[in-house]
Amino acid sequence: MKRSEIKTEYTWNTEDILSGISEFNDRFLNLEKQVDFSMFKGKLSSPDVILECYTKLYDVYSELEVLAVYAMMKRDENGADPVANELNCKIDDLSVKFSAETSFIDPELSTLGKDFLENLLKDGRFNDYELDIKRLIDFLPHLLSAETENVLSLGGKVYGGYHDAFSMLDNVDLDFPTIKVDGKKVRVTHATYSSLLQNPDEKVRKNAFKSYYKAYLKVLNTITALYRGNVDKNVFLSRVRKFNSSLDRALFGEEVDKSVYNNLIKQTHKALPTLHRYISARKQIMNKTIHMYDLYVPLTENADLKLDYNEAFDLVLKGLEPLGNDYINLLLKAKNERWIDVYETEGKRSGAYSVCVHNLKHPFVLLNHTKTTHSVFTIAHELGHAIHSHFSKTYQPRTKSDYKIFVAEVASTVNEVLLIKYLIANANDNKTKKYFLSYYLDTVRTTLFRQTMFAEFEEKAHALSEQGSPLTKETLNAIYLKLNKKYYGKSVVSDKEIAYEWARIPHFYSAFYVYKYATGIIIAIAIAEKILSGEKDAVKNYFKFLSSGASDKPTELLKLTGVDLTSNEAFELAFNSFENALIEFEKLN
Ligand SMILES: [Zn+2]
Repeated sequence: MKRSEIKTEYTWNTEDILSGISEFNDRFLNLEKQVDFSMFKGKLSSPDVILECYTKLYDVYSELEVLAVYAMMKRDENGADPVANELNCKIDDLSVKFSAETSFIDPELSTLGKDFLENLLKDGRFNDYELDIKRLIDFLPHLLSAETENVLSLGGKVYGGYHDAFSMLDNVDLDFPTIKVDGKKVRVTHATYSSLLQNPDEKVRKNAFKSYYKAYLKVLNTITALYRGNVDKNVFLSRVRKFNSSLDRALFGEEVDKSVYNNLIKQTHKALPTLHRYISARKQIMNKTIHMYDLYVPLTENADLKLDYNEAFDLVLKGLEPLGNDYINLLLKAKNERWIDVYETEGKRSGAYSVCVHNLKHPFVLLNHTKTTHSVFTIAHELGHAIHSHFSKTYQPRTKSDYKIFVAEVASTVNEVLLIKYLIANANDNKTKKYFLSYYLDTVRTTLFRQTMFAEFEEKAHALSEQGSPLTKETLNAIYLKLNKKYYGKSVVSDKEIAYEWARIPHFYSAFYVYKYATGIIIAIAIAEKILSGEKDAVKNYFKFLSSGASDKPTELLKLTGVDLTSNEAFELAFNSFENALIEFEKLN
């Protein structure tokens, strides 16, 4: 479909940002002149000048964000549009210039020392900038001499080399095998692998699994060298910056305490017997020995939802009803006031996202709606982001409205959990109920248990390197196989190939990232369970969290909802929810 053939009500209204290209160009010209911070260079020694600099920094940045979002949305409407592409090139260039122009600010402020910066915090005029100042103070123990900082920044490009090399190997050079499916040759690639593992024919799954891993085995020495290099790089950077470990360095950047990481692993271990029980249920239903390649086969008949956009939206409204009228009205506002771009059109960006910056009138959501269950969940998910952003920017100053990655997926996942719970509770027949129960169980298995196992692997690999033990393929395989056996239990055969599954996980090149998937879903289930059980003020407290932006450390903000990741409660809520779904599922079989 061409964009012009879509009814206006199903397209987002970019005129809520600016009137069109000519306004963009005018504002861009104006902004270009302001991207000059030379007047502050070497002068940041008095509170007055610092305040002036911060004000200008955020003024320019806010305008840059608005123009960047507009350019991006125009390009995403149609990637082939030369005008939109030109806008993006202009914005990219100006962003690079902005970064270069302002790169002196943090280092220069840091030289003023702890006492000076702490005094700024006591000066009421700096209230809006307190997070920036606190961040500088916290970083002081890790700040190095100007010369060393310069050397480190010159090395910036080098650090990404392991990831780039792995990507090339994994996406381009790897010799993907071919197997026979229904007499036809099928290539086992990253794209086909997951659907092949869902094939009802065990032979197909087994062949796909064995041949896929064989391809990795052929390059395992190279991958081991790349992964070891990446781990060593993390250890190097954490030592240079005087962190106790690579994990400490990673968590520092996100303002998350190590006790959260440790507690995630500890609590997940406690729940492993429930995961094992789920695998046993699978074993019973499939009536066979379960291998690693049997874990993705659907356990139920397909009961996929086939809803057009308006029906899907209505279903989302029903699912999110427990959040109350104010929330529902905002969703309707988003729909009626054209925050959302609904359908796939020629040249439109695939997938889905929500975008918002402080100076926009409201967030925007890009969808590519089709009649699938996945599309219904996508509406709930992206609107979760949108409403979170909307609350944050309404209730926080621009310097505190941009919530951190650690909590970024909370609101979207709360919506998904509420929706799945609604679908389970309101399923018309057992077939549908089973379908949604297994959807939920599999989501928790892959997002919570599997990602925690990954997190544990990363921690162990880095710890070994930190102790000076060589990371060989034998050591890495042994760590991984042991974890796999521990997590999946005795009901599954830990096939020998699974020992080097670590070698095919791209996320391991962004160390200590995946644990956030696990904490994200735990937080979301805990919040959803509190709301659904009618806990006093659960919705009110959740709204406080949605309104809190980045006004404090993410784990502190979560406490507004009653979720404390250093204690047991949230974990128990999440694991009980998983267990209850499992009990219901077992009854239906
Ligand atoms: Zn998301």
